[in-house]
Amino acid sequence: MMIMIFIGHNRFGKFLIIRKLLVVNDSVILTNHNHHKNLRSINLCIIVMTQTGNLTYPAVFSLEGKLALITGGGSGIGFDIARCMVESGGRVVITGRREEPLKEAVQALGERAHYQVNDVTDRESLEELVEKIEVELGPIDILVNNAGINMKKPALEVSDADFDRIVHTNLNSVFSLTRTCAQRMMARQRGSIIMISSMAAYYGIDRVAAYAASKSGVEGMVKVLASEFSGNGVRVNSIAPGFIETAMSKTAMSGDPDRFARAMRRTPMGAFGKPSDIGWAAVFLASEAARYVTGVSLPVDGGNSIGF
Ligand code: NDP
Repeated sequence: MMIMIFIGHNRFGKFLIIRKLLVVNDSVILTNHNHHKNLRSINLCIIVMTQTGNLTYPAVFSLEGKLALITGGGSGIGFDIARCMVESGGRVVITGRREEPLKEAVQALGERAHYQVNDVTDRESLEELVEKIEVELGPIDILVNNAGINMKKPALEVSDADFDRIVHTNLNSVFSLTRTCAQRMMARQRGSIIMISSMAAYYGIDRVAAYAASKSGVEGMVKVLASEFSGNGVRVNSIAPGFIETAMSKTAMSGDPDRFARAMRRTPMGAFGKPSDIGWAAVFLASEAARYVTGVSLPVDGGNSIGF
């Protein structure tokens, strides 16, 4: 694997060295560079390197020592967020309504992963959930509000009960859990809260009125919470996934080739994303690398949000 890295600057203070590093069997080998003459004037920056499998990366992206609570982490995007966080050195607690997928997920994720059966819409249960996790595993440093549901129906056929169900899961419960975690994070003066919203909050996709309303609510909430919490060391951001290969997107696209074709037409990268694309973005937002990033919505969508 080849990675590129800046390692220093010359005596005029200009960054000029891009070194090529070849990573072979966990060893880092410096390869050619173009600035032999300046080698002696380089002040080496301190780059702390850590190892995860074969991948060598700066520790600023590491989640070592951090505990993440990821709702809906037993499958789909949530599972890959958990996997990427574990691979980045973190510990995770995943939640969901069904125990079996959670058990299997934790088995696949290894000893730094734990689960709690929990329905986020049961808002009375959230304080107890957070208390239990913190007593058993320590302070929650990262909250990922990932659990969500969708429903595809023409707006005129959406009942009040349908609308309430979607908004209750995707928005109301997100606020309740965020408030519960944020109270503790603010007292500790540290934390990162990540919402998984959707590009449905940005533009009109037909037949998802309740879903789009719920995700737009999340986007608005991110800005307000970031404004209220960030002074106390708690950053709040969202990731707006485009079309990602999961059970949810399969259902949304199934039997609807026209919808699929339209989605692809406006996606410059011309393909669905993978759950890990969201996972790595979440690692970045949770890490020290994003220490000055708050109140943003990061589209991870193959360009879908700017596609024509
Ligand atoms: P999936 O349907 O594949 O997974 C959803 C997960 O959430 C499941 O593990 C489910 O577990 C859990 N969940 C659902 N309801 C609840 C609840 N009330 N309490 C606790 N857990 C719950 O969806 P995705 O992985 O595709 O979606 C994850 C997030 O990403 C969602 O917020 C979605 O809106 C968003 N998103 C997805 C896109 C995509 O293309 N896939 C695009 C844009 C946004 P269980 O059923 O056991 O509770």
